[in-house]
This record gives sequence, structure tokens and C-alpha cells, in this order.
Amino acid sequence: MYHPIPQSVIETTDGGTFPIGTIYCIGRNYADHAREMNATVPDEPIVFIKPPSAYLPDGGTIVAPAPGHTLHHEVEIVAAIGERLHRATLDDARKAIVGYAVGIDVTLRDVQQRAKERGLPWATAKAFATSAPISRIVPAPMVESLDRLAFGLAVNGVVRQTGFAGDMIWSVPELVAYLSRWFILQPGDVVFTGTPDGVGPLADGDRVRAWLGEYVALDVAVHVPPAR
Ligand code: MN
Repeated sequence: MYHPIPQSVIETTDGGTFPIGTIYCIGRNYADHAREMNATVPDEPIVFIKPPSAYLPDGGTIVAPAPGHTLHHEVEIVAAIGERLHRATLDDARKAIVGYAVGIDVTLRDVQQRAKERGLPWATAKAFATSAPISRIVPAPMVESLDRLAFGLAVNGVVRQTGFAGDMIWSVPELVAYLSRWFILQPGDVVFTGTPDGVGPLADGDRVRAWLGEYVALDVAVHVPPAR
């Protein structure tokens, strides 16, 4: 019943579509979240990747891969890339950002914690199917001032996370320029830019709402399969 069908495009708020490519994610881009994780603020951005098939559209259901895990929400501003970028300047990085969305970096916190302790990769903890819910994309020219934009997340109507883009350690163009030093960014790629504090658990049947200012909201449900 809850078999997610991967979708390959994200809708934009002006009626267009955006073909989704690689999903780049940044860890610890807000000092208050680093503190709540008992982690240090890093010298360089922490980067991990989710496959395009991890994308979950607005109205979808986050499905835990198995019962018994600690499923966590991390609300994040998502930047949409519209140009090929390699070793980009800050200015070129800024120009290549064609839109913004709100997304949830859904995390199996117990699996991630085990991986951290053993020095192993985070792929299963972070990149499983439905781990990347993303709202419709707001075209960049419609967003007046990203730095003053508030975003947040509520579970069953109770606000759990609120953040301001201006509190980021690295700005969105800085992150995009940094990524382009290592990767060739392509039109359709998106960047999850890190979560503020307040991350917490999700349970079967939860209704989750995330928002990016007044521009766009994202509503998803949560399903945890029963133990066999
Ligand atoms: Mn995150």
C-alpha cells in the first residue's frame, strides 16, 4: 500500500516544472543545531547526497524503511539550481539559484548515530526512499530577502522548529560555490541547506507541515510499517 512511486519533477509555484537531479545536503549549518547534537561547528561544510528517487512531493507519505528506528525531522531551506556549475565564483553561484523551497531532511537518527560512532557513511540513515520531502519551488525573483525569511515545521499542529536563513553559518550562495569546487552541479540539482535546532521524532500517523515564509508550504504524512 505504501510503495512510493518516485517522481522526477517538482512543480513550481508559477505553474512550471523542475526536473529533479542530485539532492545535495549540508550538515550543521546552524550553530544552535550543532550544539543540540553535541557536535562542533565545522571548519568546512559537511556534505552528503540523496538520490533523486528519495524526493517526496507535497501531499506524500514519509515511509520508514523498517519499524523500530528513531525517525527525525530536519526542516531546511532548499535551493534549486538552474545552471551547470563547476568551480563557480560566488557571483555565478548566486545567479544559478533559480528558486527556493522548504524541505525535510528525514533522518534515521539511530542509524546515523551508529554510523558516526563507527566512522561509517550516512547513506542508509539519510538517503532512503521518501527521505527528501520538498515543497513546490518558489522562483527566486519572487523571494524578496532570503536572509529575513522565516521557515519552520509543525507536527500535528504543534510547532517544533523555526529558523531564519540569516542564521546560517554559510550563506546559500557560499554553499553552492563550495559544492561546485567538488562536484559539477547540473540544472535540476537541489541543495538542502541545513537545519536549525528543534529536530525531533516522527511517529506513525503524524501529519507534518513545513513552510517557507508566506510563500509555500509542504504537507506530508508519516507511515511506520508494523513489526512482522
Ligand atoms: Mn539536515
